[in-house]
Amino acid sequence: MTDRAHPVTEQRHAELRSPLPEHERDLPVDVSWLRQRAKLFAAVSERNFHLVTDLVAYASISGMPYLSHYAAQVYLGPKTARLKVPLMAINLKLVTTREEADRALAHETMHLVVPSYGHKAAAFARAQLLLDQVGQLTIAPA
Ligand SMILES: [Zn+2]
Repeated sequence: MTDRAHPVTEQRHAELRSPLPEHERDLPVDVSWLRQRAKLFAAVSERNFHLVTDLVAYASISGMPYLSHYAAQVYLGPKTARLKVPLMAINLKLVTTREEADRALAHETMHLVVPSYGHKAAAFARAQLLLDQVGQLTIAPA
């Protein structure tokens, strides 16, 4: 779900466009901003998830070690007992700007919504749609 090692996948991920205004994209990510932002992705995708930034806790719940080079990951639970609300881990050591956070949230939310898409072009088109929808939600009043 999170293997972005393939160069094509890396490139598609990097091409995701955040709807944030330019001056906000490079701002640092704090947990409260990330939680608010995650709620917007949950809203537009109609897929709830728990955001986890404590990777030790995530590893202990999921029973899988969290690989330190992963920017983000989702955990749906075991095949026979899926979690009602999946977990989404974001690694704040790697996701350091709001623009990167938007890309990570869109990418992982996409995996929750259309898991069968893998990392195909269609998967990233869906991730971009989520970003665009979040942008629509957050347009500042004129
Ligand atoms: Zn992925």
